Amino acid sequence: MSAAPEPPAPTSTAIAGFENTFVEALAPLTVAWQGAEVPDPMLLIVNEDLAESLGLNVAAVRSDDGVAILSGAASPADATPVATAYAGHQFGGYAPMLGDGRALLLGELIDTAGCRLDLQLKGSGPTPFSRGGDGFAVVGPMLREYLVSEAMNALGIPTTRSLAVVATGRDVHRNGAEPGAVLARVAASHLRVGTFELAVRHPDLLRPLADYAINRHYPELVDLPEDGDRNRYLAFLETVIERQAALVAQWMLVGFVHGVMNTDNTTISGETIDYGPCAFIDAYDPDAVFSSIDHGGRYRLGNQPTALKWNLARFAEALLTLISPVPDDGIAAATAALNTFDDHYERYFAAGLKAKLGLADNVTDGELLDDLLTLMHDHRADWTGTFRALGGELRGDSTALDDLLPREASASWLDRWRTALAERGVEETRIAVEMDTVNPVYIPRNHQLDDALRAATAGDLAPFHRLLDAVTHPYAPRDEWSDLVGPAPESFSSGFRTFCGT
Ligand code: AMP
Ligand code: MG
Repeated sequence: MSAAPEPPAPTSTAIAGFENTFVEALAPLTVAWQGAEVPDPMLLIVNEDLAESLGLNVAAVRSDDGVAILSGAASPADATPVATAYAGHQFGGYAPMLGDGRALLLGELIDTAGCRLDLQLKGSGPTPFSRGGDGFAVVGPMLREYLVSEAMNALGIPTTRSLAVVATGRDVHRNGAEPGAVLARVAASHLRVGTFELAVRHPDLLRPLADYAINRHYPELVDLPEDGDRNRYLAFLETVIERQAALVAQWMLVGFVHGVMNTDNTTISGETIDYGPCAFIDAYDPDAVFSSIDHGGRYRLGNQPTALKWNLARFAEALLTLISPVPDDGIAAATAALNTFDDHYERYFAAGLKAKLGLADNVTDGELLDDLLTLMHDHRADWTGTFRALGGELRGDSTALDDLLPREASASWLDRWRTALAERGVEETRIAVEMDTVNPVYIPRNHQLDDALRAATAGDLAPFHRLLDAVTHPYAPRDEWSDLVGPAPESFSSGFRTFCGT
């Protein structure tokens, strides 16, 4: 990739310790770049725990020089910021060149546990990949990504993390002028299926990219041979398939709708990435879709595993020539790998659902799980609330459950559930305690998030901090947060839409 050189950006050492292995290994997939000027930077939020885990000095991160780096106005002295190139399938259609249209990869930091992590800015200004976009982002959506990604992390779901949001003082045109912002996010890497879809068109890049990804994410595969029946590239495909199956199962278990599962938003690391039009469901409905552009419901809640498997098929196609020099052999091996997806997904989902219900692995009632889902769907029961209410049921408090599911509809299923629980030989109250460790009380409910973001955009961050505090401590109920429990009023939910590229 090439582009006109920019005048050098000011540099700062407030955030230091960067390494640049991706640029060193795969320079042709990057363009050296820098952020736009920032008229009036203001640090809205910084994740001090995350900063410390990255080995950063919090005071330096908060300093003017630190904020200059986090906003993209200055480059770290020891980094080579780049915009990265990738392709991707968007809603099933191939886009040969997407790339970081409003993001800048500052470089890699090694955290205190020794893990290599990318630090990337989102909303830092136009790049050679901006196409029709302005390259910017605004306060509401960047705080939204901050909060939802941190909530996902607190729920134990692999995800990019959020380090900071800086308001830029720039007016950005969305629905009228909105305050501009830059999100600093941290990821195991920004390699995605779309990176491979681009590299496959450049034969000299594909193998180095695959080797880089294996080295970085799946070093246990490095010693496998480069050729042969189960070479390292086939093992790589199998591993990514399993990681992603596990990830989408975790989304389903918390009622998370990603909203834009294009192949450029499917990571090689197995982390959730790109919180644009995502949302958590209230009422359980496999057809739940929130994105304003997802007219066909391609990325609806219940289609997420299928959409992901489709994306992984695109990944498999990109790896075919590495899997075997004999095309038919490569196709056969990749197809067999893809065929493991459904089993992996079912296994992870069922195991997670059993844990949510306090059940042992060897439940004899084979319809028990499906029948609960049907019951919840029929009654549009609140997903998050129902599992907590089932814990309450075991403690002898039926009121919460009765509010969600009429007793005459739930009674026979509850009997079967309690029979299955009895097989464990553990007291029900102890099982309820276990269930409470996997069933959150607080998730980012759309109506609460909307209210908090509206206040934040108008300058009052207090409701945002309060909601962030709750969703990052999701399992233990607190009286002071009682208003944060429970679904939105129907009048809100029926008109709720989410948006891309905001
Ligand atoms: P997404 O689906 O949000 O991950 O974005 C898909 C593509 O659109 C990526 O290449 C983004 O960099 C690009 N993009 C999204 N929003 C903007 C924007 N405001 N300006 C430039 N590019 C954008
Ligand atoms: Mg994306």
